[in-house]
Amino acid sequence: MFKGKVVIVTGGSRGIGKSIAESFASNGAKVTVTYKNSIISDSFDAIGIKYAQCDAADTAAVQVFTDSVIKEHGRVDILVNNAGMTKDGLLMRMSEADWDNVMNTNTKGVFNFTKAVSRQMISQKEGKIVNISSVVGITGNAGQANYAASKAAVIGFTKSIAKELASRNINVNCIAPGYIDTDMTNKLNDTVKQGILNTIPMKRIGEGKDIAEAVMFLCSDNAAYITGQILCVDGGMVM
Ligand code: NDP
Repeated sequence: MFKGKVVIVTGGSRGIGKSIAESFASNGAKVTVTYKNSIISDSFDAIGIKYAQCDAADTAAVQVFTDSVIKEHGRVDILVNNAGMTKDGLLMRMSEADWDNVMNTNTKGVFNFTKAVSRQMISQKEGKIVNISSVVGITGNAGQANYAASKAAVIGFTKSIAKELASRNINVNCIAPGYIDTDMTNKLNDTVKQGILNTIPMKRIGEGKDIAEAVMFLCSDNAAYITGQILCVDGGMVM
């Protein structure tokens, strides 16, 4: 489905981003993932996924990375802004650093990568951008003011950039995952996990593949007339 397409997935070393990268690669795309600290396993080499250390919050590093992908392939067809982090806590105990780190990765990172690829996509007269937000960017969540704000900002950003780039044949959409089984959610205690599970009408925790399938759809020709949308992939949590 994506034979020869040049794809960047940010934060693709683990979790949801890894599932997205593997889905693109198995559909014939040329995929490069970024990460911040991980040691990457050989499994990526085996399926031809390239990887580069690049802090999404570092504007200059993102430009250097994106330029290197464009130099190598001559284009960028698809950007998935997936890199994200949490630093949870009630507002009264949330430090300035906890706020800044989450906003810089989750929101500024999306700005950095989108800006870095947009000139190339405009000159190509085509492109797909998918931003990974969260259902808590829609609903809010006690103990996650920084994270919820960062993800709500991604929704506003998505709609604005979709309007800016629509006439250039560039689709910009957003996926809001619910509760997905990754390292990010594994650190929650069992009581919190059970509490979240109770709010999911489908009564199961999502998998990275559930998000990857939605990304494949939004980046396919089948979604050519869809832009500026927020797709909740959450087993019915938010409806
Ligand atoms: P994980 O914690 O499992 O993986 C996070 C990924 O992001 C890793 O690849 C990590 O790299 C990378 N990353 C983090 N910070 C940076 C940074 N500054 N620069 C570059 N890469 C970075 O998270 P998930 O897979 O669970 O989450 C993926 C996305 O989905 C995030 O945006 C998250 O907010 C969102 N999401 C997740 C949900 C869930 O239930 N899991 C629910 C809703 C949204 P490294 O390995 O080097 O640390």
